[in-house]
Amino acid sequence: MKKNEIYELNKSFNELLSDKKTTLTYEGYYSALVVWVKSKEELKEEVEKDERLTVLLSVDPCGNITETPDILLEMEKDRLGSIKYENIDNMLMGIRDTLWDLVTVYSNKDCPICDDGLRYVMVENETTNGKELTLECDTCGWLEHLDGREWESGVVKMYPVDKKEIENYLAKG
Ligand SMILES: [Zn+2]
Repeated sequence: MKKNEIYELNKSFNELLSDKKTTLTYEGYYSALVVWVKSKEELKEEVEKDERLTVLLSVDPCGNITETPDILLEMEKDRLGSIKYENIDNMLMGIRDTLWDLVTVYSNKDCPICDDGLRYVMVENETTNGKELTLECDTCGWLEHLDGREWESGVVKMYPVDKKEIENYLAKG
């Protein structure tokens, strides 16, 4: 990667975050990040390698933003926008984690490994090809079935689910 490239990307990203219009609403913020990432040809290759980010880029934020995001919009300029990313990977990781925070729902269970809160994620099971609602720890990567058993199959895809989908899923038993 050229040194200039990450410099220009940082500059453009800081400008996006400095624009007050970017962080007026959670939905708007989500869309602004997605549009920005998609507009950068330099990011394309790395984005395609990142399964979770690819999924997040296709999520419609309308109706899917979690009720209580862990993010304070007025702080985003200082939090996400002031970082000088050293490479594209770090930059995309920051964006991915932010998008993820905006659309995932916490369960009331804590991670058995590191005690952090577990979030709901829908997982496509590599073995059965079926979809299953699971709980994941963002901090250490622990993944479990809803009954608490450790997830041991392969994962094809993971994506966020909103509260309604979770309720429907749980109602079905
Ligand atoms: Zn954990």
